Amino acid sequence: MFSPVVLWIVFLTASLIWNIRTVDKNMVETVKSIGRSFFNEIETTRLWNARHGGVYVPITENTQPNPYLEDPNRDVTTTEGLQLTKINPAFMTRQIAEIAKVESNIQYHITSLKPIRPANKPDGWETETLKGFEAGNKELFELSRGKMVYRYMAPLSVKKACLQCHAKQGYQLGDIRGGISLTIPARRYVDTAQALKNFLIIIHAIALVLGIGVTYFVKRSRDKQMELRDQKNLALEQAKTAAELANRTKSKFLSNMSHELRTPLNAVLGFSQLMRNDPATTGDQRENLQIINRSGEHLLTLINDVLDMSKIEAGRIILEPEDFDLGDLIRDVVDMMRVRAEQKVLQLILDQSSDFPRYIHADPAKLRQVLINLLGNAVKYTEEGGITLRLKATPEEEAGKVRLICEVEDTGIGIAREDLGHIFEAFEQVGGQAGIKGTGLGLAIARQYVELMGGELTVKSEPGRGSVFRFEIPVETVTAADIEHLEPSRGRIIGLEPDQPTYRILIAEDQLESRLLLKKLLEPVGFEVREALNGQEAIEVFEEWRPHFIWMDRRMPLMDGLEATRRIKAMEGGKETIIVALTASVFNEQRDEVLEAGCDDFLRKPFREVEIFDAMEKHLSVRYVYAEEQPMTTAEAAKMDLPSSEVLAALPPELLASLSKAVEEIDLKAAEQIIRRIGVDNKALAKSLANLVKDFRFDTLQNLVMESMK
Ligand code: ADP
Repeated sequence: MFSPVVLWIVFLTASLIWNIRTVDKNMVETVKSIGRSFFNEIETTRLWNARHGGVYVPITENTQPNPYLEDPNRDVTTTEGLQLTKINPAFMTRQIAEIAKVESNIQYHITSLKPIRPANKPDGWETETLKGFEAGNKELFELSRGKMVYRYMAPLSVKKACLQCHAKQGYQLGDIRGGISLTIPARRYVDTAQALKNFLIIIHAIALVLGIGVTYFVKRSRDKQMELRDQKNLALEQAKTAAELANRTKSKFLSNMSHELRTPLNAVLGFSQLMRNDPATTGDQRENLQIINRSGEHLLTLINDVLDMSKIEAGRIILEPEDFDLGDLIRDVVDMMRVRAEQKVLQLILDQSSDFPRYIHADPAKLRQVLINLLGNAVKYTEEGGITLRLKATPEEEAGKVRLICEVEDTGIGIAREDLGHIFEAFEQVGGQAGIKGTGLGLAIARQYVELMGGELTVKSEPGRGSVFRFEIPVETVTAADIEHLEPSRGRIIGLEPDQPTYRILIAEDQLESRLLLKKLLEPVGFEVREALNGQEAIEVFEEWRPHFIWMDRRMPLMDGLEATRRIKAMEGGKETIIVALTASVFNEQRDEVLEAGCDDFLRKPFREVEIFDAMEKHLSVRYVYAEEQPMTTAEAAKMDLPSSEVLAALPPELLASLSKAVEEIDLKAAEQIIRRIGVDNKALAKSLANLVKDFRFDTLQNLVMESMK
């Protein structure tokens, strides 16, 4: 396309041409109008003269009688002796012309094709012009460049007054008798016009320069901006590449670190569990082991928190929805939290409305994590009073969908108004107790998870009175039939039922601790166990020994678990061997990778004892022998969603006594009545007691009541 400069030049040239033409035209019009007005003036004076049939003037040296005027009364003498001569229009015109020539430099020439006075004979230009008038022209104006004069000529036509003298020449009214030509010096006008044109040229030149200058500066600043933008884009691009690289490095680091941390933790947790189950362990030792176990679990939670947060930041958290028993999940979480609450003598009340669904399709792990984080905080930041978990649901427009509304209310220290905005940020801890009790990640993770599930997490709090955390999430409801039921664990496994094959189990694992842990779990139960330190060895043992089941560590030297799995599954009889991968990785992608390699299942480290046995039960249909059930301790009871003896002990003694009696006598009606009375003040307690009665667990009830009355 045309550049702005070219357009500007074209525009200015056009403007200059137009302006110069206008100057010329105006100049011509001006001079023309000067000519016209002179002509009109003369014609009027002539008419005035003709109407008087000539006027008499005194004879002077300059005004002698007109020899061409044939009039008997041409010269007269007044009675006083003054000599006068008649001046006819033509003679008058000549005389005025002489004055004008001296005064204004404009020459007149009265002329005719048939002049009476020889001096009035037309020149060549006048002859042509006069001929033109006879042909009908009205006036002629032109510039004679050579002589630098404008010439103007207009015709004189015969008026009535003229005929007095000129009738004898044969003229009639209206005939063109001749004309007056005016010669106006042009220099002055041409110079003025030229000066104007010069001025226009200068103005246009300035405009051109300015235009080019502005265009140049605009272009330069635009170029600069573009250059800046390019630079910025380049910097952004580089930053993005760097960030992506950093992210990849971080992910790599994370998966490595998780492996490094989880593997030893697996040993800590596993061996402490193993030792706890050892009948030779004394009560004291058991307590110490319990502490090791709890600390390990806590450490695992912290590691998981940090990893979860990093995964969130790397955008690697995805929803993993499934059908599950929400009631179970809630009970689990509440049980876990009740133990913690009771340690601080806090009440944990579950206030669940009847429309809260039991079976739903959602991400149970994330929902569980959110509830644990919120309830955990409530317990952490409350010293007196209690915590209420309030659960409701409202129907959504779409059929089969409801909106879960969960509230965690506490009577704790509360949060200052100015801190409310920060608590959801990662690593933010407020209110002075920071650092002692957590990582500052719990709420950040909870909020991210809730948002991922399509909801919003909000908080209301009053310092000194407590806080309410609330979230709502849309979920699908499902039926019990949709849920895959796992047999509940029936206590500690001590052996295998008779009449089963001798199961050969291969443990392919490079880490000594992990290998030993699995071996110590499996061998005492009655499995035959062999070990392999890498993928290559695993293949060799498989070929020679044909194990029924392989625990395959994912990461091993020489050949990793995936490659070994692929090869074994491709070998003869490989398909029949169950291979379950063990990985310390935190990323879900690796689960797919593991399954694609041909593994039948997948277990994350650190694993729990029960997960190991459950997986083998699931894939081998192996049947276990369980230890005899022990009478429940209070702590265990709490884990089963039972009211603790402490809470029962807080009841009015009279109520407790009647409850004890009703339980002893297995009096269903009486028990229900008493529970209703308890429900007036403590709904949660009444509910769990009612559950026990409904299940006819009078033995458990009796144990509890007895303990609380101690
Ligand atoms: P932390 O690991 O420190 O508990 P969170 O992200 O879970 O980290 O919480 C961030 C901060 O919000 C906490 O340090 C605490 O000051 C405040 N907070 C969270 N929940 C409560 C609560 N229920 N009552 C009072 N303060 C709370």
